[in-house]
Amino acid sequence: MIIAIDGPAGSGKSTIAKLLAKELGFTYIDTGAMYRAVALKIKRLGIDPDNKEAVINVLKETDIRLKNNEEIKVFLDGEDVSSEIRTEEIGKIASKIARYTEVRKILVEMQRKIGEEAKNAVIEGRDTGTVIFPNADIKIFMTAKPEVRAERRFKELKEKGLNVSYDEILKEIVERDKLDTTRKDSPLKPAKDAIIIDTSDKTLKDVFKEILSIVRSRLSTK
Ligand code: C5P
Repeated sequence: MIIAIDGPAGSGKSTIAKLLAKELGFTYIDTGAMYRAVALKIKRLGIDPDNKEAVINVLKETDIRLKNNEEIKVFLDGEDVSSEIRTEEIGKIASKIARYTEVRKILVEMQRKIGEEAKNAVIEGRDTGTVIFPNADIKIFMTAKPEVRAERRFKELKEKGLNVSYDEILKEIVERDKLDTTRKDSPLKPAKDAIIIDTSDKTLKDVFKEILSIVRSRLSTK
C-alpha cells in the first residue's frame, strides 16, 4: 500500500507522515529531504542554483540515501546530513533546483524505486500523488493558511534554539509557495482524487486521527 501525502511547507505533512508510518509499520519516504540534500551539496560547492547545467552535473555524481531505522536519517554521499538540511536557506535552494525537469527526473526515479522496494510506504512531498505514484492507494493533500504555517515553523525553529523572525519565515513560506506552485514541471497541486485537509484550525493530533481512520477503513476493504 502506498499512502501519498502532499502539501506546502509547514502544512504538517511531515509530522503526520512520520506518525502514520510509525503507527502502520510502513516505510517513511521524505522526498523533500532528497531535494534538500542536493541543495546542501550545491551550497557547499559554491554553485549558483540558477546554473542548471552545473546543478545537473553535480546531481549525476551524487549518492542520496534515506534510512528508516530507529531514527529517520538522510545521507549525502555517505555523510549523515539529517540536521544540516533543515534550514530555511536550504529549503529555498531546494525549491530553486526543484524547477529543473532533469533534476526531478533523476529524483523521481530514485523515489519510485524506494517506494516499490518498500511495498508499504508513506511518501510525502509535493508531487507524490500526482507524479511519483499516480496510482497510490490513498492520496492526502494537506494545506493551511500561510500565517498558520509560518507560526508552526517559527515555533519549531525556536524550540531548536534558533534565533528566527516570524516575519522572515512568513516571507520565505510565501516565496517558496510561489516557486512551487508556478513551476512548469510538477507544480504543487492536489491530485484529482486527493482528500484535501485544511489544517489551519485543527491540531495535528486531530488531523492524525482523521487520516488514520481514513487509512484504516481503506485497509479493511483491501
Ligand atoms: O518538503 P520540503 O520543505 O523539505 O521540500 C523542500 C523543497 O523541495 C520544496 O519547497 C520543493 O520545492 C521541493 N520538493 C519538490 N518535490 C517534492 C518534494 C520537495 O519539488 N516531492
